[in-house]
Amino acid sequence: SPSVLEQQLDRLNGQSYSGYKRLKGEYQFPTFNLTLAHIQGDPFAAPSRVSLWVPHGQGQWPQTYWQDSMRQVALGDFLHRQIIQTIPQIQQRRGSGKSGCLVVAAASQVMLARTAVQVTAAGIELRLGVGLPAHGRRIAGQAAQALLLDDLPDLVHKTLHYQPGWQDDLDQHMATVENANALRQQLKAQGLVAFIANGAVLPRRSGVDPRPLPNAIPFQSPVALEVTLPMPHGGAIAGLGIPQGVTLIVGGGYHGKSTVLKAIAEGAYNHIPGDGRERVVAHGATVKIRAEDGRSVTGVDISPFIDRLPQGISTTHFSTTNASGSTSQAANILEAIEAGAQVLLIDEDTAATNLMIRDRNMQSLIAKEKEPITPFIDKVRQLYTDHGISTILVMGGSGDYFEVADQVIALDSYRAHDVTEQAHGIATQYPSNRQGEGGQQFGTITQRQIQLPSFDFGRKPAKVKTQKLTTVTIGKEDIDLRGIEQLLEPNQVRAIAHAILTWQQQRRSHALGELLDDVMSWVERRDLDGLTPFPMADLSEFRRYELAAIINRLRGLQRL
Ligand code: ADP
Ligand code: MG
Repeated sequence: SPSVLEQQLDRLNGQSYSGYKRLKGEYQFPTFNLTLAHIQGDPFAAPSRVSLWVPHGQGQWPQTYWQDSMRQVALGDFLHRQIIQTIPQIQQRRGSGKSGCLVVAAASQVMLARTAVQVTAAGIELRLGVGLPAHGRRIAGQAAQALLLDDLPDLVHKTLHYQPGWQDDLDQHMATVENANALRQQLKAQGLVAFIANGAVLPRRSGVDPRPLPNAIPFQSPVALEVTLPMPHGGAIAGLGIPQGVTLIVGGGYHGKSTVLKAIAEGAYNHIPGDGRERVVAHGATVKIRAEDGRSVTGVDISPFIDRLPQGISTTHFSTTNASGSTSQAANILEAIEAGAQVLLIDEDTAATNLMIRDRNMQSLIAKEKEPITPFIDKVRQLYTDHGISTILVMGGSGDYFEVADQVIALDSYRAHDVTEQAHGIATQYPSNRQGEGGQQFGTITQRQIQLPSFDFGRKPAKVKTQKLTTVTIGKEDIDLRGIEQLLEPNQVRAIAHAILTWQQQRRSHALGELLDDVMSWVERRDLDGLTPFPMADLSEFRRYELAAIINRLRGLQRL
């Protein structure tokens, strides 16, 4: 109980900092439980790990906010954001090192299950980093009492207990996620792969600020492609329904094409109220593909796109430590499909031109026999007819794709128009006269048997380091993440890296698909603690495509 903690801190006052370790354990407060899970022996080290548990009864939480697993995630996400805002008001520097600091994980613009704040049917758990106060390297007992016995209870009462004033915002948080899920669930029956509601705000403030751009032109669907979908909250909503098949987005430079495609890519996630993209949804198995020269590729069958490489290099087991633009993009496509992608998004800005197009003049100059690459234009229809995989392509620079597109959407000063008929008319009037080079079928999609690399050196378990979305270090290996565009939070990366370490410890070979299923079954049960050796405060839910993407970039990966 709090008084036990108070007395212990009286006794520890002035002792060496590592004496704090004796406090490890659980303490029952009147309206919550405090667990000091791991205590640092040094005031300058990372903060100590603390968890706070509030049963719903004690937090006075109405059942409507935690009645099902989706609402539990939404409530956790909502509270997490409240905590992020409240901590600076509570936190006080109280001595040397990290004294007095309170640390909670960060959150992006989407609602995810995170270990920082977890809601179950029983209650709410908050995991924090806490800097136990020190004077120099000695225990500052009174400051610690203020922190643990005043500040933490204050934080709990302000953020983990129900506040009637939150009702409207909470209801909106719940409605937003339920509407987005409902919209996404309707896509298939409607023959769609993505939906962008009228009024959605797609552009962001900047490349590093994901908040909505003020004064942006709201999205408006072309009439011909407009669909109206019912939602559980607030009636029906009209917007652009992007049908299955091959969709081309065209338009002049700077007219908003990439912004639309990025919004679709993020439509695999549920955005928070106020983001502007709350009602932009994509099929959950949507994967953005790009060229990524320099990446490592292990034993991928890229033969649908590339064969007969110089020097007889195999492309059914294609490996390289330094892929070219086209081979990296081909590998990205085949790996995404192997992992289960149903919708591919490709932007000309980040695509390898020679993988995308090969026009008539080039076909005349360089014979097919001399060109290892079969361009995407000759495969995109087969992807759909043979495998049911749709593609949305941004392409302002070549009209050859008019012939293979089911629908063509033009952006003109951020306004969308349906130009399918015009584009098809032009394609008939001025045929590209290309030779189809794609053969009869798309080709095989190989499911690889793989072995994860070993990251351990000697006895020490490998560590994970990640701060931004650019790199993750697992053990001694740096993995470049810049090609994996649908990662939104560094804590997704951290969770993936720990999952890889945990599964690597089994030291056995896996069918890659089964490994993904296995890891994702924990994520789907929202049991992220199952991925790590001890409960961590900074893990976020992730998708199987990003898990696959990081595994596929490991330089020590083996295909068996
Ligand atoms: P494109 O890919 O066609 O060259 P982008 O999508 O990169 O164009 O957009 C160009 C610029 O216009 C970006 O700075 C983007 O933020 C901005 N932008 C995009 N959509 C809108 C919009 N609806 N309203 C206002 N600005 C927008
Ligand atoms: Mg662009």
